[in-house]
Amino acid sequence: MTATTDLVRNDAGYVCLSFDFDGPSLWMQRRMTSPTPISRGEFGAVAVPRILKLLARRNIEATFFVPGHTLETYPSVCQQIVDAGHEIGLHGYAHEFNPALSPEREKWVMQRTVELLENLTGVTPAGYRAPSGDLTVQTIDALVEHGIRYDSSLMGHDVAPYWLRRGDRFPDDAPVQWGEQVDVVELPFSWTLDDYVHLEFVTFRKMLMPGLQRPQQMFANFADDVRWMVREVSHGVCNVVFHPQVIGRGGRLLALEEWLDEIAELGVSFARMDAVADAYRSGVPFGVEAPVS
Ligand SMILES: [Zn+2]
Repeated sequence: MTATTDLVRNDAGYVCLSFDFDGPSLWMQRRMTSPTPISRGEFGAVAVPRILKLLARRNIEATFFVPGHTLETYPSVCQQIVDAGHEIGLHGYAHEFNPALSPEREKWVMQRTVELLENLTGVTPAGYRAPSGDLTVQTIDALVEHGIRYDSSLMGHDVAPYWLRRGDRFPDDAPVQWGEQVDVVELPFSWTLDDYVHLEFVTFRKMLMPGLQRPQQMFANFADDVRWMVREVSHGVCNVVFHPQVIGRGGRLLALEEWLDEIAELGVSFARMDAVADAYRSGVPFGVEAPVS
């Protein structure tokens, strides 16, 4: 079931674990479709059941963002995610880079992926994360049109949800003219809280992403953000991004388990992102920082 569960309030704060199950589509977006990069995506399907087991042992509900291409390529793995009680949100069809799409194609992608997720889960998806985190104004329009309740692609805060806007303007001789608020909650992420940039080694034709840090080093960064939030903020929300094809290997999974145990001791709750978004929509305050005294 993916029906939203009510959020149990916890002053110490919330950590939302999200897993972007990109599969081969991540490599398709980069036009890396020879057998080797595609096999890196295939590994995501090996890793998801391991992650489900790990979460079940700790009774943690999480959020998976799954492209339509993955839903159709690995239906039984995606069914396992739903059966385990986790949320599945939208993540493009073939991990398209939204700014490169025509408005018509972007509309098609949203329509098709909403249908695929409705067929799988029986409910309209609550949330969306743009592939590679890149929203366009058309994306925001499509989210509103389909009644999507939250987005998680922007970085305008670190411990609090906020309302999405459309129509910001940036004249070069005057301050920003902020656009109108729309009926979509933003649950911000950050590259600093994303396993892909810390761990994944990728060679492109003209650049190299070194990755391959010790996972403990990445999790030390993650833990520090949670520790600060617990000390300084009431009802803060920390959204963390994992990719099964990145985090699903032995040593990294061990480090993930150690980190989960470490932050659980700080008193935070683990929550699905739809539960946080719906609570925020109903007026519940999050991320309250004490004023300077
Ligand atoms: Zn992705």
